[in-house]
Amino acid sequence: MSQLKQVAIVGATGAVGAEMIRCLEERNYPVGSLKLLASARSAGKKLKFKGEDVVIEELTKDSFKGVDVALFSAGGGISRDFAPAAVSAGAVVVDNSSAFRMDDSCPLVVPEVNAEDVKKHQGIIANPNCTTAISLMALYPLHKAFGVTRVFASSYQAVSGTGAQAIEELARQSREWAKQDRAWDAAKLDSKPQVYPWQIAFNVLPHVDSFLDTGYTKEEMKMENEGRKIMHHPGFRASVTCVRVPVFRAHSVAISAEFEKPISVEAARAVLEKAPGLDVIDDPANKLYPLPLEIAGKDNCAVGRLRMDCAMDNGLAFWVVGDQLLKGAALNAVQIAECL
Ligand code: NAP
Repeated sequence: MSQLKQVAIVGATGAVGAEMIRCLEERNYPVGSLKLLASARSAGKKLKFKGEDVVIEELTKDSFKGVDVALFSAGGGISRDFAPAAVSAGAVVVDNSSAFRMDDSCPLVVPEVNAEDVKKHQGIIANPNCTTAISLMALYPLHKAFGVTRVFASSYQAVSGTGAQAIEELARQSREWAKQDRAWDAAKLDSKPQVYPWQIAFNVLPHVDSFLDTGYTKEEMKMENEGRKIMHHPGFRASVTCVRVPVFRAHSVAISAEFEKPISVEAARAVLEKAPGLDVIDDPANKLYPLPLEIAGKDNCAVGRLRMDCAMDNGLAFWVVGDQLLKGAALNAVQIAECL
């Protein structure tokens, strides 16, 4: 990776974009020049890269001349409209949105799972759903050893997964509650929520993404659909309930997984301890288990609460936590760029 790359970030001012800048810096990605792109609202503002000011430019179809790698993180519509222009200009696109994830011509990659798939790209490589990527960091090594058949899971997803405005909504609602010096049982605020359909502070919302006719949400089906593609496991089944919680950063997922081969807690722990990008924090007697507050800002995901699932014949229950702005988005995208 000695050759310098001309890199562009689309959505550089967003929650993920900011982390992409940081990941390129911290991982010493060989950036020759960095182009920061966002909407007209941000054009002319500056962000720092390696101590230098970089002026943000408005994204247009002509933004990609001379760009080698374009990291897209500005929503599916923008990716659909502008990624083809980036590819035509000769760039390889790593896309954070869901626009191309299930497109057969676009590899969907978690480097610890299927880095080889990067080679099959035709210009666009998709970055997986954050909850799926974090779950697979623990599930895939277990699958390789014991053969997963299906999972039942519930997610506890941080507001930063929805972007910068949702972070502000939780902060604003928390401040509003504190200012009014309310009693604990008067947590319902007068102000109207703007990002989520219901107040997120002091609440949990069993609603992430839009509902399908089946009653599941689109987000909930990503674990099965994207999990099958990433693990090359077409028979994988996942029944998931995704929940938004008043946590700023890092998603948690409670998973019960059923396996083909006999599994034990000891054998699972031995596998997970060797898994790349994953820490095992599993000492409940000493109150040690992965927590979003502790994992926020860290590259590695963490797994704990390992136990035999008492409602399955050959199942393991566990708890995975990962910083979704990093492993679920920016870090994974930069790792993909490194694979190139
Ligand atoms: P965000 O904080 O709301 O940021 C959105 C970014 O898109 C901003 O930089 C914004 O620029 C830019 N943008 C909006 N409209 C634009 C336009 N017309 N032209 C050019 N740029 C435009 O959102 P985010 O959380 O970073 O998410 C970005 C993408 O990553 C989404 O597709 C999301 O699904 C995906 N993703 C997010 C996460 C996560 O944890 N947040 C995880 C995985 C994937 P302005 O500041 O100029 O408006």
